[in-house]
Amino acid sequence: MLCSQTFVSDPTLAKNYNKLLQSTARATFLKDMYWDVHQTLNIYFYPLPANVDKLGWLDISKAKVNKSDLDPLYATLQGVAHPVTAVKAVIAKLFEPLSLSYQYVSQPSQAHIRISFNPDDGSHSFVGIQNNMIPKNQPTMNFGWLDVGCIFHELCHMLGMVHEHQNPRDSPLKWNVPALQCMMAETQQPPWTAERVNEQIVDAFALDTTNGSNFDPKSIMLYYFPKSYFCKQTGKDVSLTSTGVGTSPNYKLSDTDWLWLTAIYPKMGPRVFPGLDVMGGGGEGGEMSDSSSSTTSSSPSEDPSGVAPSFVARTTFGLKKYWLVVLFLAVLSIWFMHKVLFKKDKDSK
Ligand SMILES: [Zn+2]
Repeated sequence: MLCSQTFVSDPTLAKNYNKLLQSTARATFLKDMYWDVHQTLNIYFYPLPANVDKLGWLDISKAKVNKSDLDPLYATLQGVAHPVTAVKAVIAKLFEPLSLSYQYVSQPSQAHIRISFNPDDGSHSFVGIQNNMIPKNQPTMNFGWLDVGCIFHELCHMLGMVHEHQNPRDSPLKWNVPALQCMMAETQQPPWTAERVNEQIVDAFALDTTNGSNFDPKSIMLYYFPKSYFCKQTGKDVSLTSTGVGTSPNYKLSDTDWLWLTAIYPKMGPRVFPGLDVMGGGGEGGEMSDSSSSTTSSSPSEDPSGVAPSFVARTTFGLKKYWLVVLFLAVLSIWFMHKVLFKKDKDSK
């Protein structure tokens, strides 16, 4: 089973949101999906349902994975922890290096994030501040099964991250869509439609609407795709990509995931974008304030260059400083040479 991302597509939910987001119901404007840098997220857990027995832990005991490739929390949580305890432990680890804080609340009406454990509803989360648009009597995140990696994955969606296999920057994944549709119809419960396959996997986000690194094969936000799949419908073993490339299963946040998260939610200083390959806007501020449940619009930053304004500003300042130093040294040299030559000239007279 796969860990999904959910986007607000219902225009009635989006009615208070800004025009740009409404007009693009899939909400790919992820650079406008971050929480405020110092936001406190109120988190509510629904009581466990009566059919909680169906909520099983993923068995990774037979997976061929090095211990070093597993998040250390696998050792203490996987297969044994109470669902709420497990999610709380992952939240504590995820938020520890971030500027964001969180608190647990006892009423769903007080919560930005409402987490349910419905075994019949798969695992999914709304992305970033889209959580503000969900009616307070509905969950924003669900776990249909349990796995430490999947809990990290859904919580990263909550923080504004989207699927790495939809990263528009240098992805090696060129899909064989019919093969993908066959696999998702035969392996997911309920079977994924072609539309869902597009939404969750095939459609890459537009370059100028996202911030992030180049494609990261180690990201927790990347699905595991084998190189090929035996499609029962056709009776054929088919490659999932036109280039025969697959992905490996990831069980922890990659270094790039952490770098990205701590740059977007920095404990010290303003929000920054780590590296020249990181594009998009946002900068400090500009995000929606969600101090109340009514969502007010924020202006998406105009960013025709595709480079973060804060980065541009820093670069420009850096260059200005550099040229000022060069100019100062040049003037100093001319003055010095003039002084020496003038002195020689005077001496010779
Ligand atoms: Zn997902």
